Amino acid sequence: MSEKRIEISQLGEFGLIDRINRQFTLKNESSLKGIGDDAAVIQASGDECMLVSTDMLVEGIHFDLSYVPIQHLGYKAVAVNVSDIAAMNGKAEQITVSIALSNRFSVEAVDALYQGIKTACENYNVDLVGGDTTSSAAGLVISITVLGRAPKSKIVYRKGAQVNDIICVTGDLGAAFMGLQVLEREKQVFMADPGMQPSLEKYEYMVGRQLKPEARTDIVFDLEEAGVKPTSMIDVSDGLVSELFHLSRHSEVGIRIYEDKVPIDHMTFETAVEFKLDPITCALNGGEDYELLFTIRQEDQEKIKKHPDIHMIGYVHDRKNERVMITKQGNTVPLRAQGWDHFTE
Ligand code: ADP
Ligand code: MG
Repeated sequence: MSEKRIEISQLGEFGLIDRINRQFTLKNESSLKGIGDDAAVIQASGDECMLVSTDMLVEGIHFDLSYVPIQHLGYKAVAVNVSDIAAMNGKAEQITVSIALSNRFSVEAVDALYQGIKTACENYNVDLVGGDTTSSAAGLVISITVLGRAPKSKIVYRKGAQVNDIICVTGDLGAAFMGLQVLEREKQVFMADPGMQPSLEKYEYMVGRQLKPEARTDIVFDLEEAGVKPTSMIDVSDGLVSELFHLSRHSEVGIRIYEDKVPIDHMTFETAVEFKLDPITCALNGGEDYELLFTIRQEDQEKIKKHPDIHMIGYVHDRKNERVMITKQGNTVPLRAQGWDHFTE
């Protein structure tokens, strides 16, 4: 009798999470939202809710310390967690930090890591309230859990996008991906000839976006000021198309975006061309931008129209399996998600 074995790559990351999710049902009334959004939602007292999210960074998978300064890594680990709370329209307040270290790391390295964590805690006004420290056979693992808060009525989920809503994205896309390409190239050059000094000046913006991303807590604040509550929201961690698919699937709606509306910084564009990559593909599928992607009602359009960092890239329609992009030439092409899937890479 042959033993049955399912490879994880057959399911992929999302398939695996779905499989885990199916085995559990929420028993406590206070568990308002479990697996499936940027953060879990837990009823605290009255209208107040707690938001909880966790993210793990693994050396060799998510970062390469040969070109990532360890203090930047600490900063990024906090920022990406705070970003998930922002994606729920909430405010991050506390973090716990767990690390696993091999004996390759010195006390100075841990100090530098926590220097970055501290800077992020100050910038985002969050408190470090605990964690865990252990050893690892090889490499560094950082797992951060963030706790946030929002009134129940203010929370925005991945579901909730309505037909005719406008799709908005903040900042610009693809820069973090291009930053990674630049760093990888410089590493190859350096390994071939250690005397070569990396020439990163020209690529400063993109490298900065890769090494030191910021959570868009400013946008959560600006939307509140403008009196706009998005109908759905997610942060762009895996790539715009991958996140559009999440909004589409959870909201059971179709998506139409316009190529010429997708925000790409001019340096990202030029660098993509230099690397013989298609700039729009980098913007659509690059990932790690940590911008916010959200939908708003048509009547709210006026209130944020003048915001310099919010771009309206398309709209929501009723054919839920139709996720398309109108190209610059006017052709309608299906969007294809190529988010980072660590199990199939
Ligand atoms: P994000 O990209 O916003 O961090 P993920 O794609 O990592 O979200 O996770 C999607 C959802 O699946 C989240 O609700 C997360 O908490 C949940 N999740 C991920 N991995 C696991 C796991 N191993 N066990 C339980 N829930 C998980
Ligand atoms: Mg997220």
